[in-house]
Amino acid sequence: TLKPASHFIGKNEIKPLYKPRDKWSHKGTFGHSLIIGGSFGKIGAVTLASKAALKIGSGLVTAYTPKCGYNILQIAIPEAMVEVDDDNALKYFNFKTKPTVIGIGPGMGTSEKTKLGFEKFISENKTPLVIDADAINLLALNPNLATHLPKNSILTPHPKELERLIGTWKNDTDKIKRAQKYSKENNVIIVIKDAHTIVVNGNELFVNSTGNQALATAGSGDVLTGIITGLIAQGYENLIAAIYGVYLHGKTADIASQEIGFEAFTASTILDYLPDAILDLF
Ligand code: AMP
Ligand code: MG
Repeated sequence: TLKPASHFIGKNEIKPLYKPRDKWSHKGTFGHSLIIGGSFGKIGAVTLASKAALKIGSGLVTAYTPKCGYNILQIAIPEAMVEVDDDNALKYFNFKTKPTVIGIGPGMGTSEKTKLGFEKFISENKTPLVIDADAINLLALNPNLATHLPKNSILTPHPKELERLIGTWKNDTDKIKRAQKYSKENNVIIVIKDAHTIVVNGNELFVNSTGNQALATAGSGDVLTGIITGLIAQGYENLIAAIYGVYLHGKTADIASQEIGFEAFTASTILDYLPDAILDLF
């Protein structure tokens, strides 16, 4: 049976976390998100994550992608800056931007050159991280790498990615125990994405109340990565950004499904409904 300290996350828990914006604030007040990801045929993933970081309120957003993503991103997101790496897949990870926070992984691929570049990047990086998708897969291939992550880095695995990270679990209790062990050993926060997402911070568990099957669609997780990254950029502390981001992401689906049903909801619809999800808090 489950007996760790656990918290249910509903509107009452989320509402007080909101940070009002000062009238005299400027874009620098709200931080700079760097989204690293994409590979040939998967530039959409980094596009969605970058849009999400902007839409949740990051003051500046830079996308770092392979060269093949340059035109796509500049046209798709006029608000974003773009820096490029090698041709069709990430290799050098030598961006010049000095971001507040980095979201890494969407669409990144796991080719050998990307793996080597990623390992070098992780071993040197000190900027706060949100780690998703192929960045989790690469981390799982080299367990020693996780010890280099900045404290309180956020990992956002879906079930398959989680299994690669912590091994196959026997049942739900075992899954949570394994995630807690990984969280404590590496000082990271794990967002166990599922129908009811659970945020794991050592022994603490935060069970999200929002979201539905409309979110079972391509790119849904990439948008969550951008949301959490954009919240950290604005000064939400990592654990709060994870909990708050998961709540808002799910809330978009709860509101939208009343209006447009489940099927027509896509990852871009999450972005369209973020304003409603935020306004619903008040
Ligand atoms: P990914 O698989 O990386 O695209 O992430 C999928 C996202 O959608 C995660 O945030 C999941 O929690 C969410 N999601 C997927 N299926 C469901 C579901 N049936 N109910 C609620 N949320 C879901
Ligand atoms: Mg994903």
